[in-house]
Amino acid sequence: MNELLLSKYLHFGKKINILAVYPNNYNLGIANLGHQFFYRALNETNLINCERLYLNNIFSNNLCSIETKKKIQNFDVIAFSICYELDIFNIINLLKKYNWLDSVLQKKYSNNRPLIIAGGALTFINPEIINKYTDYAVIGDFENIIAKFCEFITDALENIKRAEILKKYNFLFNEDNAGKWNTSAEIDAYSNIIPLDKNCEFDNTFLIELARGCPNNCSFCNTGATRNPLRFFDRQKINEILNILRLRNIQKLGLIGSAVLLYPNIKNFLNDLLKQNFQFSFSSLTINHLDFEIIELLVKSQQNTLTLAPEVGNEKMQKLINKKINIPKFLEILKFAVSNGIKRIKLYFLYGFEENDNDDIFAIIELVKEINEIIKIKGKPTNLIISLNPIIPKPNTPYHQSNKTMLPKKILERKKKILRNRLINLGCRLEFMSINEALLQYRIANNLI
Ligand code: SF4
Repeated sequence: MNELLLSKYLHFGKKINILAVYPNNYNLGIANLGHQFFYRALNETNLINCERLYLNNIFSNNLCSIETKKKIQNFDVIAFSICYELDIFNIINLLKKYNWLDSVLQKKYSNNRPLIIAGGALTFINPEIINKYTDYAVIGDFENIIAKFCEFITDALENIKRAEILKKYNFLFNEDNAGKWNTSAEIDAYSNIIPLDKNCEFDNTFLIELARGCPNNCSFCNTGATRNPLRFFDRQKINEILNILRLRNIQKLGLIGSAVLLYPNIKNFLNDLLKQNFQFSFSSLTINHLDFEIIELLVKSQQNTLTLAPEVGNEKMQKLINKKINIPKFLEILKFAVSNGIKRIKLYFLYGFEENDNDDIFAIIELVKEINEIIKIKGKPTNLIISLNPIIPKPNTPYHQSNKTMLPKKILERKKKILRNRLINLGCRLEFMSINEALLQYRIANNLI
């Protein structure tokens, strides 16, 4: 594993040793800024040494930390960052492998095994399942609780009664605080470790969470429902970081966040990056905040892919999900993007809203056909990728709260088949999420397993 550490830490001599485990492979884990922030923030304390483990192969007989090769069972605390529903199985398998599962399920921690805790994006969706498979679930942001977290870990390792601990620390999940996530006013999430291997998706790229929260209220979206208010990474601090990156010869920046285009003076900011010879890309872009100038800036930054999520194909469906997109303007932007050098367009769509109404799929088919025609510009070959996912009603979203459940597998398969048959001949690439996987996500998110 080849990686660049912007800050190096001594991994010995501290009172408490925590292993930060990302319950999936290295490529996913290293791109997770929550996991990266946890590692950096704890190593900067006087109390805690933090090391890392990625579960590339959970069945390996030698699960040990990257930093000092210490065995997993020799850590005081194992802390999972969990973002995807299906990763819960990796956590369960790990607990089984070391015979820790029963005592965790019974909430019987004792010093003969590590304390098991977890936090991460899934705590905004289903903290209960995380609470079930850990001693404690840390819910919400981490930036504003570091000192309190150190106190909590000390108390928990001293075996203070669980009820007392839950009463003392309001960032731990318990039945009384469901739906109340800790929110930090400041964002401090950025890469401290930069992967250098070429097969890593974000190789040589510095990631920074430019914005957190989203002012839109798309009815199906957990981010819009749970992460507000919208906050931005401090500009002065970004300038300081850019100075360090220049010295380290890092030029690629990944700008993370759902509403990054609402960053104050975003165009000036992007122009400044270009003047300083940085290249940037975005994790996602909201269509309504996109304009010709942003496209030009992306092209200047040598980005040839545009990834957007119209989600549905017409106004009727937009009303249903509360996501208003001006479709004629969206089509103009796509045309402009292709004319100006964007070579790959990836669009995300959702289907499977109503059992007896196929407007969802036919609206997508019509819109994709139109887009496919619009982007055919002589001399500008464009790769169109259409990603189609069943809608998964997730807790804490307005869609879920309106008592929507997931359609049965048979209906989803039928809708998928129609989509495939009608779109296959257009020449675009179709990517379907597996329906079994979507149903499993739904069941885990909703405590149905
Ligand atoms: S714009 Fe995106 S992040 Fe914001 S609420 Fe809608 S789907 Fe969620």
